[in-house]
Amino acid sequence: MPKEHKFGTTRKYRRVFFLSLVTFGIYYIIYQYWIFQDFEEHHEKAFDTEPRSYPLIINPTTMLIFLFIFPFYPIYIKYTLLYDHIRTSRIQSPENCSIGIKAVLSFVILGICTIGIAPILIESQWQRAFNKHIIAHEHQQEKLPESK
Ligand SMILES: [Zn+2]
Repeated sequence: MPKEHKFGTTRKYRRVFFLSLVTFGIYYIIYQYWIFQDFEEHHEKAFDTEPRSYPLIINPTTMLIFLFIFPFYPIYIKYTLLYDHIRTSRIQSPENCSIGIKAVLSFVILGICTIGIAPILIESQWQRAFNKHIIAHEHQQEKLPESK
């Protein structure tokens, strides 16, 4: 189940994967839309604690439309934004996701070689990095000096 935290929502990739299988991929499309909403939510809730980090702002509806016409674009955006956000945040995350271009290339090249297994692992790693970042916010918030 998605879990609400003080600085955003975490999701269990295993559950997403299972529900996507049983709905023939429809759930996965909705999940992508939620991810961009999660970005907006994190930006709103956490901006004060990391004003100089790369902002997670992108319109979820635009991304959903692109998912149908050119899916590599939202994939690229999703990885690039999170990677840069974690890299530039003063909140220290234990893990980061792949950079955008590497994720897209891996989806295509490794995806073909591994009959789809590599993209699933990369996606799972993405969600894990985002989850850990949201939780890291919660743990490190008190230790940071006020930024006023
Ligand atoms: Zn953050």
